[in-house]
Order: sequence, then C-alpha cells, then structure tokens
Amino acid sequence: MPTPIHDPNYAPGGPLKRLPLRKAALLFIGAVCLSLCGLLYLQLEQSREHDLKTAQLASTNLTRAMAQQAQDTFLEADLVVTSLVDWIQADGYDATQNPRLQPAFARRAQVLGQLHGLFLFDKDGQWVVTSFGDLPRRGGVADREYFKFHQQNPLAQTHIGPAVRSRQNGEWIIPLSRRVNDRNGEFLGVLLAGIKMSYFDQFFKSFNLDNNGAMFLALADGTLLARRPYEEALIGESLAQGQIFQRYLPQASAGTAMIRSELDGVTRLYGYRQLEAYPLVVSAAAPEEVILRSWYANAVQSSVIVALVVLGVGLFGWVFVQQVRNGERIETDLREAQARLEVIATHDSLTGLGNRRLFERALEVEFARGARQQQSLALIMFDIDFFKRYNDAYGHVNGDQCLARVADVVKRCCQRKSDLAVRYGGEEFAVLLPDTDAQGALAIAEQIRHAIKEEQIIHSGSPSGYLTVSLGCHAFVPKGGDSVEVFIERSDTALYQAKNFGRNRTVVSGDNTAVNERQEAASLPS
Ligand code: GH3
Ligand code: MG
Ligand code: MG
Repeated sequence: MPTPIHDPNYAPGGPLKRLPLRKAALLFIGAVCLSLCGLLYLQLEQSREHDLKTAQLASTNLTRAMAQQAQDTFLEADLVVTSLVDWIQADGYDATQNPRLQPAFARRAQVLGQLHGLFLFDKDGQWVVTSFGDLPRRGGVADREYFKFHQQNPLAQTHIGPAVRSRQNGEWIIPLSRRVNDRNGEFLGVLLAGIKMSYFDQFFKSFNLDNNGAMFLALADGTLLARRPYEEALIGESLAQGQIFQRYLPQASAGTAMIRSELDGVTRLYGYRQLEAYPLVVSAAAPEEVILRSWYANAVQSSVIVALVVLGVGLFGWVFVQQVRNGERIETDLREAQARLEVIATHDSLTGLGNRRLFERALEVEFARGARQQQSLALIMFDIDFFKRYNDAYGHVNGDQCLARVADVVKRCCQRKSDLAVRYGGEEFAVLLPDTDAQGALAIAEQIRHAIKEEQIIHSGSPSGYLTVSLGCHAFVPKGGDSVEVFIERSDTALYQAKNFGRNRTVVSGDNTAVNERQEAASLPS
C-alpha cells in the first residue's frame, strides 16, 4: 500500500501505542481467581487445623479422665487388698480366722462398687474365703496367670492380670491380686480382688461418643482389658503390635496420634495415656471424619461459593475480553477503512500515482524541510505530446491505458523514497524531488523522457511515430515564506517552453536551452 503522505515523519492513522488490555484483563482475572482460591485454601487449612487442635485437646482431656478413673478404681481395690493382706499376714492365718475374715471381705466388696468380689486362695489355689460367703465347688485357681505369678514371685507387689471369667459366676473380671506370706515369708496363698469389667463398660458408656468412636483399657503389655464398643472376642487379645504400643508409647507416656486402622480402614484420632501407678494404658479414639464433619460441610459450602464467584468473574472476564476483542476488531477495520480512504483521497485511481491533494501536502512539507535543512528542492512538470490526437486516433479507453503505462514508467524512474510522482491533471504529471538541484532534476527528467520513448507506444499523430513527453524542471533552495505557486509556475513555464521549442524535450527553468532541442527540432511538425 502506498504511503499516504510523502513525509515519513507525518503519519496520520499510524499505529497507536496501546495498553495490552486483553492480556491485562486476563492477568487481572486470573490473579483475582487465584487469590480467591488461595484465600479459600488458607481459610480451610486454618479451620481444619483449629478443629483438629480442638479435637486433640478434647481427646487429651478424655484420656486424662479415663486414666484418673482407672487409677482410682484400681487404687481403691489395691488399698483394700493390701490392708487385708497386711492384716492376714500380721495375725497369721488358719481356718479359724475364716468367720472373722468373710464378713470383712463381704463388707468391703459391698462398699466398693467396682468390686466383683474378694477371694483368698491357699497355696494350692483353693478357695479359702470369699466375699460371697459360699465357696465355689469347681477346682481351684492354680492355673490362673495371677496365681502363678505370685507363686513364683516372692516380691510383695500388687499384680493386675489379663481379664478372666469369674469361676464364681462367669462374670468378666480384671484380677488385682497380692501374694500372702506366712510369718517365715513362705508362700501362703493369694488374695484377689476381682474388678468388674462392666464397671469400665458403664464408665465408657457414660461418654458421648460417636458410633465409630472407641475407648479401651489395656495392660501395659498391650493385653486388652476392657473396650467400647464391647466385643467379647477381643478381650484378652494383644494390642502390642498396634501403632500406639509400637510407636507412640515408647516415645511419650501420653499424647495424641492420627492413626489409620488396618482393620476397618478408618482414620481416627487416638488419645492415649499410660497410668503412673499401675501398668495400665487407656485410650480413646474418634474418627477423623466425625471430627472434621462440620469442617467438611463448611468446606463444601465455601468452595461452592468461591467456585460461583470464580465462575462469575470468569464469565465477566470472558465477556469483557470479547468486548475488548470486538472493540479492537472494529478499530482495526476503521483504521483500515481510514487508510483506504486516505489512499483514495490522495491517489489517482487510474494510474495509482499520488494526486494533486497529496502533491500540495507534500510540497508544504518539503518546502519547510528544504528551508530547515537548506537543501535544494526540485520539481519536474511534464505533459504528453499531442495526446488529444492520441485519443482521437485510438479512442479514450486506449488513452487511459496509455496514461497508466506512462505512470508505470515514471514510477520506475523515481526510485528514491523521498521522490513523489503525481498525476497533476489530465495528461500532465509532476515529480517532486527533495534534496535535488537543477542538474539532478534534469537527469531524472531525461531519464523519464527516454524511458517513455523506449516504451515505443505507437502514436500515429506524433512526428516520431511514438508517444513522447515534454518536461520542464525547476530547482531552488527554499528560504522560508516562499510561494508554492511561483515554484509550480516556474516548472510549468519551463514545460511550456519545452512545448514551444518543439516538444519531446526537457527545459530547465532559467536556462534558455532545451535538452535535445537541436537534435530533435528537425522532427517537429511545422
Ligand atoms: P500538447 O502536445 O500541446 O500537449 O497537445 P495535447 O493534444 O496533448 O494538448 P491538449 O491539452 O490540447 O489536450 C490534452 C488532451 O488530453 C485532451 C483530453 O482529451 C486528453 N485527456 C485529458 N485527460 C484525459 C484522460 O483522463 N483520459 C484520456 N483518455 N484522455 C485525457
Ligand atoms: Mg499534451
Ligand atoms: Mg495538457
């Protein structure tokens, strides 16, 4: 597309520096959406942390209460057993003591709610005195773990053993026992306090736990003593391979841990605590899903809201970007249309050369530049010789084609970017040559004349038989305030002289000799 205006510095409708609005909008919307998601994530993480911390605290408190209760339960039984053992050992034991011991056993067993009963066994494991009054008939307890323990262990210490079924009435009991010695320190028997497992069941049930929650009491070696939910088959099973006994208890005697059960696949928060006075461990567990239930609900709610907002922002952004894109497209179309109009307004449709309007605009610019830079400005005006005859001979349409061919020749001859060739009117052309003196202009003019002649456009009305042109040149250094009209007039006068001197020649303004005058004068028509 031709440059709409001759001056390279003058560029109406040139590219505007614009903000990358679409990119900025996309970035902004992306940043807003990311920030919203980030904020949601942070908020959810914080509230999750908070809920887990609260649950850890509750779990710690629960296990502390369980430990306290277990400790109190065993301590009371321990005190009873210890005092009775001391009593029996101090007084020495024989069967005559039985009537005195039995009511003492019964009274104590009655007072302590956790006690199933109190039992005194002789060195063979046979019942001697029980808090129940009558003695069971079946066998003895020589096979029981606690009996063997005391039999083989002379130390006078309280022993808590794995849960057993009472041979008195079949009830599950946790045995707390002590060795009874005679005056010589020889094994005399065992005094046993059976602690009801149901006592712990009741206590465990008194807590408001979710169905999937769990509590247990176990020996320090992992043997299960009591459990919620109650499952008889598990009593006496070993938890020693579980993570609490394997991993956490060796590190700290109390704490909390999130553990995934290998049995049911449920992840639970476990609180655990080892009792200080007895080799016992209590633990309570709550499923993570229950702990985080309200958090999940909250998370879903917040996520939906944020997703809707993000969707809204995204939609708005999409509409906005489409609008911007439409605006840009319309603007581009307008600018192209403007550029096309500019070309139409400044160019001649037949020849594609600049028109008179462009010529006048360029003249103004070049006059100013010439004055500024003190450079010579030249103008060539030329006119086709006998063109009326050409039209008459070949018709107007061929005349038009001839004009276009002449224009092409001129374009070829004006290669410099700053040169401007225009159709001045009819079959008259002008070439504006910045930074060119008269000699330079003459050289270009001659180049044009020869080139047109060499085109060998047949013109029967021309004396040479071919189409020729006459040219007038004028060059001067603008000083500022010079008249454009005078400048054109000088060139025009030179052209007029070229016509008068016989056509098909170039005349430089102020020079009375025309190039090729002598050589071609002979061919002029009379
Ligand atoms: P001279 O050598 O003195 O210039 O003779 P001339 O016949 O060229 O001069 P004149 O000015 O009398 O005639 C110019 C002719 O150019 C008249 C007109 O028919 C023709 N002409 C002007 N514009 C156009 C155009 O756009 N197309 C065609 N085909 N002819 C045109
Ligand atoms: Mg003419
Ligand atoms: Mg003319």
